[in-house]
Amino acid sequence: DMTSTHSAPKPPPSPSPLRSSRFSQPKLRILVTGGAGFIGSHLVDRLMENDKNEVIVVDNFFTGSKDNLRKWIGHPNFELIRHDVTEPLLVEVDQIYHLACPASPIFYKYNPVKTIKTNVIGTLNMLGLAKRVGARILLTSTSEVYGDPLEHPQKEEYWGNVNPIGVRSCYDEGKRVAETLMFDYHRQHGIEIRIARIFNTYGPRMNIDDGRVVSNFIAQALRNEPLTVQSPGTQTRSFCYVSDMVDGLIRLMEGDHTGPINIGNPGEFTMMELAETVKELIDSSILVKIVDNTPDDPRQRKPDITKANNLLGWEPKVKLREGLPLMEEDFRQRLGVPKK
Ligand code: NAD
Ligand code: UDP
Ligand code: UDP
Repeated sequence: DMTSTHSAPKPPPSPSPLRSSRFSQPKLRILVTGGAGFIGSHLVDRLMENDKNEVIVVDNFFTGSKDNLRKWIGHPNFELIRHDVTEPLLVEVDQIYHLACPASPIFYKYNPVKTIKTNVIGTLNMLGLAKRVGARILLTSTSEVYGDPLEHPQKEEYWGNVNPIGVRSCYDEGKRVAETLMFDYHRQHGIEIRIARIFNTYGPRMNIDDGRVVSNFIAQALRNEPLTVQSPGTQTRSFCYVSDMVDGLIRLMEGDHTGPINIGNPGEFTMMELAETVKELIDSSILVKIVDNTPDDPRQRKPDITKANNLLGWEPKVKLREGLPLMEEDFRQRLGVPKK
């Protein structure tokens, strides 16, 4: 699609310019920001299965790693660029999956100013890029935009209950501004947008020490350490396996609806129940320890996925008890703890 670029490159002077792959094979050029991260790298795996796709990953490797993309490095349809999205970016693409942003509380609280810059300036830059090249852009927003929700389960129409000045605000308010920017570019400049509100997602390649509850419990169980349930332990979350998440994101991008659309698994568990499930799965002799919680921890969270179901024909397929063993296997390999 040459019409979307500002100035088409001059055709090469060779006698048969149409042989050049750039002109003879129309490929879909897809940018994935944050593609070296957990969800991003699984998304890249799926996009690369289609040889009509050309995938460009942009990542600053803050929480992601080249290792997650190892199998694609050197592939003719794949390109990896070390770049920070808070700086302008010039590439020519047809679609943008904008994931770049640390997702785990310990990482996004580590440098909160950087986190909000990533959400605001990073998203602004990707929208400027989408506007210049006429690309469709999908933002991975979060269930955290609902804050500590006063409605349960959470529907997309709910405006949320968010602390604007708390330690999580760089992330949840940052994502709220990112959503606002998406809709303003859509209304003002006609940009094609898609917004996914992602609920807690788990699976292989999660950062082992990122402090999120599923990775913590599995790593603790494999290291023979007590599972740290943050008090009171009755708070709930709903966990979506990463392959289901990727399927939902691609359906949203390819579909006709801007969203926001919740993508998550409605199966709801207390943290105590999750600890018991991990014990049962890995080692029933592991202890559970109640530890202090962090401020502003949402007490309950569960997506209403009626929209995803009706508009995208999507629903999660992998149950927690099926997904946890797949993650256990990956963590065993990376931690060097073989199954007895
Ligand atoms: P992740 O930390 O594994 O991946 C984020 C990636 O973005 C990393 O590779 C990181 O290096 C990169 N990145 C961060 N800041 C950047 C910057 N300024 N410039 C370029 N790259 C940058 O997290 P994830 O779990 O894969 O999450 C991906 C997206 O999904 C994030 O936008 C996150 O907010 C959203 N999300 C995730 C969850 C979840 O449960 N995993 C839940 C809700 C929303
Ligand atoms: N931008 C970018 N790549 C592009 C086009 C724009 O990174 O290909 C950035 C640009 O630097 C700006 C932001 O996106 O900071 C918003 O761009 P827009 O054109 O909407 O606004 P303006 O440049 O007029 O402020
Ligand atoms: N949590 C826990 N033990 C841990 C880490 C987290 O009990 O070792 C709890 C935490 O208090 C929260 C839930 O698990 O209620 C989910 O936390 P996580 O950081 O995984 O995700 P988020 O808060 O962003 O949903």
